[in-house]
Amino acid sequence: MAFLEIKSLCKSFESYSVLKDIDLSIEKGEFVVFVGPSGCGKSTLLRMITGLETPTSGTIAIEDEVINDVDPARRGTAMVFQSYALYPHMTVFQNISFGLRMSRKPKALIRERVEKAAAILRLDKLLDRKPAQLSGGQKQRVAIGRAIVREPRVFLFDEPLSNLDAELRVQMRAELLELHERLGTTMIYVTHDQVEAMTLADKMVVMSGGRIQQYGRPLDLYDDPDNKFVAGFVGSPK
Ligand code: ADP
Ligand code: MG
Repeated sequence: MAFLEIKSLCKSFESYSVLKDIDLSIEKGEFVVFVGPSGCGKSTLLRMITGLETPTSGTIAIEDEVINDVDPARRGTAMVFQSYALYPHMTVFQNISFGLRMSRKPKALIRERVEKAAAILRLDKLLDRKPAQLSGGQKQRVAIGRAIVREPRVFLFDEPLSNLDAELRVQMRAELLELHERLGTTMIYVTHDQVEAMTLADKMVVMSGGRIQQYGRPLDLYDDPDNKFVAGFVGSPK
């Protein structure tokens, strides 16, 4: 089995079927980017992997363990949201360490992990600030820091750069690639931005209508799209 294995996964809200029979294998350490139009079910899929939603049917397994019924805190996943979701009354240090403090990790370990993450994210001089005193890019780095200190086996990113201006988005893409290179952790990333997807992805998953249209390396999708939707989405002339 692959590192992360999704089999016959379906999700409906009442009678509305959002995800239809998703099958996908992700290898350890891969940077996998999901793209597709708004409403096609990208966020719902991430939320099921991290445990914020329950599948209607099918299975999600990580390292040979089906996680459908595993407590979200024990899945080894960490999600970064578009909205940052920082606590305004807490400092950067407190925001980054929040999850570790809740799980009552030793103080020395907390400090060590926060300092390590802050160094990677260039937040080391900002640990005493409150979110209101940070730029958009710095806030998003804090949100990423909060995920890093949990040392997850999978990072889940849900359109993390959508709220940033164009220039900063380009810079943050480079930082995310650097982070991936440095940590080697499996990353699952959602965006509706084709350029972002082509830049970041080892593998790309093109979705529409709750189904996977094609899965593969960005260049292979560009050179050999399975259908017109994929061709249009990756900008292929075919
Ligand atoms: P995407 O992230 O690709 O834009 P989502 O996964 O957020 O799409 O949503 C897919 C569809 O499922 C949308 O039509 C959305 O309205 C619907 N949906 C998502 N969450 C819920 C929910 N909790 N209850 C009802 N419908 C939902
Ligand atoms: Mg979404």
